[in-house]
Amino acid sequence: MMAMKEPSPFLTRFAPSPNGWLHLGHAYSAMLGAQKASQAGGQFLLRIEDIDIGRARPHFIDGIYQDLDWLGLDWQRPVLLQSTRFEAYAQALKILRERELVYPCWATRREILAAIADPATWPRDPDGAPLYPGLYRDLPDSERKRRMWEGSDYAWRLDMKKAVQWVQKNTPQPLTYQELNPQDGDGPQTVLATPAAYGDVVLARKEVPTSYHLAVVVDDAFQNITQVTRGRDLSPATHIHRLLQALLGLPTPDYFHHALMRDPQGRRLSKQAGDSGFRDLRQQGMSREAVVALLPPPLGEGEFLIPQV
Ligand code: GLU
Repeated sequence: MMAMKEPSPFLTRFAPSPNGWLHLGHAYSAMLGAQKASQAGGQFLLRIEDIDIGRARPHFIDGIYQDLDWLGLDWQRPVLLQSTRFEAYAQALKILRERELVYPCWATRREILAAIADPATWPRDPDGAPLYPGLYRDLPDSERKRRMWEGSDYAWRLDMKKAVQWVQKNTPQPLTYQELNPQDGDGPQTVLATPAAYGDVVLARKEVPTSYHLAVVVDDAFQNITQVTRGRDLSPATHIHRLLQALLGLPTPDYFHHALMRDPQGRRLSKQAGDSGFRDLRQQGMSREAVVALLPPPLGEGEFLIPQV
């Protein structure tokens, strides 16, 4: 008799980058993930995405633990730090290199800008960045080897066209994933991934030998994540993640992209803009209940962030 495959236990994660203090949007994301895990009888993980060693800081990591603890959350230990995982990302990159789906790229920012004929009309990726103009993609092998031997810095870029073709040839099913919280739908949707819209994304650089895209896909698989819970700002990037999963033979979790918190002017909360509200609020003596009440449903009543601190 054929054994039935056990469904994987529910596992979701909150994966902040420790390059600033958490804001209320992070509190929302983490609490939503923890709530989902508890409702599903599963587990909630915390993963510290500190690959950008130039910007990640230990005190921000401590701040994440303190903030989440204050919110009453608990997570599996030990916590995975991406800075301990560079070897795994290098292995993944090696697979792509062996299949010639990535290429070394020496283009400087200045060269890229110069190659973009008219920035106003140049095609852009779903995040609004100009598509990479393909410099160094078709360099002869001998020239590539010569330059690599010379030792000047380069990045590894995905050859998007080749990668998409590779998947079409090697995977029988179309590239899809489950979006459990579509923006304009009322139930889970199967989304067809269209990664080509991103062009030749960078997968590794000299100073950071992996990229967010590569590391997140490798680690979601490594940690057996069954549902990714994260903000809607990362929804377009899922198309690249789905492609990388297919290229690397990794499983595809389901995705729940939650709404983003905005300030009363409609501006999205962001670390870069200095929205450190959450920590400041609690240090000013606001109770956990009062903070949770600021969060949008299904956790709190608030739709927008209000307080000025
Ligand atoms: N580290 C990312 C961030 O802080 C989130 C990654 C993810 O949830 O996939 O924005």
